[in-house]
Amino acid sequence: MKPAAFAYERPATLAEALALKARHGDEARFIAGGQSLVPAMNFRMAQPGMLIDVGQVEGLDTIAYDTAGTLTIGARARYRAIERHPEIIARHPLIPEALHEVAHPQIRNRGTLAGNCCHADPASEMPMVMLTLGARFLATSAAGERLIEAADFFLGALTTALSPEEMLARIAIPPLPDRCGTAFLELSRRKGDYAMMGVAAVIALDADGRIAEARLGFCNAGITPRVAPAAAALLKTQAPEAAAFAEAASMAQTEIEPGGTLQASPDYQRHLAGVLARRALAIAASRASETLA
Ligand SMILES: Cc1cc2nc3c(=O)[nH]c(=O)nc-3n(C[C@H](O)[C@H](O)[C@H](O)COP(=O)(O)OP(=O)(O)OC[C@H]3O[C@@H](n4cnc5c(N)ncnc54)[C@H](O)[C@@H]3O)c2cc1C
Repeated sequence: MKPAAFAYERPATLAEALALKARHGDEARFIAGGQSLVPAMNFRMAQPGMLIDVGQVEGLDTIAYDTAGTLTIGARARYRAIERHPEIIARHPLIPEALHEVAHPQIRNRGTLAGNCCHADPASEMPMVMLTLGARFLATSAAGERLIEAADFFLGALTTALSPEEMLARIAIPPLPDRCGTAFLELSRRKGDYAMMGVAAVIALDADGRIAEARLGFCNAGITPRVAPAAAALLKTQAPEAAAFAEAASMAQTEIEPGGTLQASPDYQRHLAGVLARRALAIAASRASETLA
């Protein structure tokens, strides 16, 4: 199908983009990579009267670390640039590891992290990774700016905390803890498909090699990206061993609410969550222990 007729604007400045959005509100949609919005328009599931292209807006292509180790990613930054960024590979390896599972290279050449988070598909990998990493989202509008914690940003399937006038301008990702390892695993029927279940694990060790901090995130495990705080709490102060990971993975299975997909029943998704969580925790711990050497 072809999309319904729409107007198209390509502002050069943020002020222009925000003024257009303030004027047209819900009737207008920002377009970034277009890899979710255009298919939705072609199926007439979305029929915006106006597209405001963020692709030329100056200052939104940032990918940079500040002196405190916080990574800032602007609304125009494409997956490909993020995935191949040497500093991100070294300092936040969970991001490229998960990005590698998002769609196909052609889509990653166009798609943006910000567009993906605004689309807020609970099956998407990166919203869950942002939640697991404790990211903060800078929403901006003609009326001003506000920071939204990842935990408050994803409100439901395809629903975020952004108001109709707001643009997601930047995402800020805090540094990982010291002596930390991360891992991302997912299972999909074919490479590039949305995952039936995806898991991110973060393990930080103390100087004695015991677990100082653990985090577990899941995609396709509810109507929003999910974390498993009770499972993470079980791991604190434990030795990083298989029995502890198995216990935490079982707990995590009770903390998620998978709704089933065309290919996987909720029970099967929950089973996958347990298996992948156990494996991801072991990989993250082994990577963390390499930092002790
Ligand atoms: C064949 C195929 C396979 C795919 N597989 C996967 C997959 O496995 N995993 C996955 O996660 N995704 C997958 N995707 C989706 C892909 O990741 C998209 O690129 C992503 O979801 C949206 O990013 P975008 O930059 O393309 O955003 P767009 O499509 O341009 O926009 C998406 C939504 O966000 C809004 N938006 C965009 N930027 C902003 C902003 N700065 N502020 C406010 N609102 C904004 C738009 O108005 C729209 O509602 C797939 C897509 C295709 C076509």
